[in-house]
Amino acid sequence: MLHVGITGGIGSGKTTVCKVFKILGIPVYYADERAKWLMERQASLVEGILGLLGQEAYTAEGTLNRAWISGKVFGNPGLLSQLNALVHPAVAQDGLDWQERQTGCAYTLKEAALLFESGSYLLLDKTIVVTAPLELRIKRVMDRDGVSRQAVQERIDQQMPEENKAKKADYVIFNDGERLLIPQVLAIHQALIEAAQAK
Ligand code: ATP
Repeated sequence: MLHVGITGGIGSGKTTVCKVFKILGIPVYYADERAKWLMERQASLVEGILGLLGQEAYTAEGTLNRAWISGKVFGNPGLLSQLNALVHPAVAQDGLDWQERQTGCAYTLKEAALLFESGSYLLLDKTIVVTAPLELRIKRVMDRDGVSRQAVQERIDQQMPEENKAKKADYVIFNDGERLLIPQVLAIHQALIEAAQAK
């Protein structure tokens, strides 16, 4: 079995593309969603975050105080990398445990916004990057989240440029509203099945 990572910038369409792979029977691990879950439920990680950021990192109900944490680490790269040093290994291990539980498929898919930045691509056999023109990404996220252009742009500015991601990937999916998604996904699906058989 192969383990494949899928990434792309904000609004590129990663989640949309993963839904197509899921319909093809491929198990998908959503690393960012899972990270949020682990940050609230995994005792050792919660303890680490409390130690690093203090009680205000969580609400009285025990949910992550996301806005407060963002404010705290935004513009403080040292603190952000300390937080990442707690979260990334916990998610990496959880992802490996998840992979071990998957059976009966040629490959698994791990969706993560920061696949290259976090180094988690190093644990994977192949990578896919979903890419879309910047303006289209901004419009899609503004519509989806009901946020301002500036808010989307600020999130985009914090990420590695999409063209750099595409250069590092084994496969690129163009979600530009012109090229159809499903034939691109089917071609990669077929190539991955063949690569898994050849492994
Ligand atoms: P994020 O990094 O913010 O989680 P994402 O890369 O996972 O974003 P999606 O949530 O899949 O992106 O897509 C962003 C928005 O654009 C969604 O509302 C989705 O429905 C829409 N979208 C994605 N691809 C297309 C497409 N080909 N045609 C029309 N709408 C699309």
